Amino acid sequence: MAITETIELLGKGLYGEDIPDTLTLIPMTSTLQMEYEGSESLETTLLDSILPKCVQEKIDFRKLLNIDFQWVLRALRILTFGEFHTTDTIFCRSCDDISRGEYRVNITTIPCRPLPEGFKNTLKIRKEDLMDCGHDIEFKLLTVQEIINARKDKAFTIAGKHNIELARVCYMISSMNGKKDMKPFEVRLEVDKLSGPDWVLLKSSMMELLEYGLEATGSTKCPKCGEEAVFIALVDERFLFATVGDIREWRNSGGRGKAKNISADTAAANG
Ligand SMILES: [Zn+2]
Repeated sequence: MAITETIELLGKGLYGEDIPDTLTLIPMTSTLQMEYEGSESLETTLLDSILPKCVQEKIDFRKLLNIDFQWVLRALRILTFGEFHTTDTIFCRSCDDISRGEYRVNITTIPCRPLPEGFKNTLKIRKEDLMDCGHDIEFKLLTVQEIINARKDKAFTIAGKHNIELARVCYMISSMNGKKDMKPFEVRLEVDKLSGPDWVLLKSSMMELLEYGLEATGSTKCPKCGEEAVFIALVDERFLFATVGDIREWRNSGGRGKAKNISADTAAANG
């Protein structure tokens, strides 16, 4: 019988009837792994083929919040290949230096910030945090599909080039200048009216308020001085690749038995 693992979604309670609060994961098989490795679009293959076969519940993965997409990928990576990951760069504050090479790090050291209790997917920038704009601005965390749409939406072009930053901001904002439930192109009309300082303050406030889900770095030991250092680990569609070394270290450390309680490991890493 296949090993399975149940994980609780970060956005539990936000999805209504579409998606349950917990998902049951099944490790990738060799066939799925070959499909993944041979894929021309990792993202599409993951969303439409790999995840539907590796999650028992039938859901539309494009409706997941992006922070939960990353959360599911992390769990599937650990369940299938273990918690070890190969990185090429380690940053150490003690040495004030960057080490380059091939280093094995542990994915479970990447902290995850859960959403606040009772979160309704509305974040607010107060007008006091801006300069010229006299209204609060409300925005939301995006789903996987909304991020894909923002990336492709031709309405967000500046000087003939698609501007992904502008597109994402306009997709995230739901209310500004007293208007509610706005569509991205309606937001664009209002964003175009913002002063230069407010555009900078808006983006910075959004970044500060968006610190939910997995962080972009994990912790490890500096290969030079042995002190605590960090590695960059972006959890995206490439995250399911594992090296032979990652897998051997996992096997040698006790392997599968230790892959249980994937969610609990993170709680400990947060502690
Ligand atoms: Zn160091």
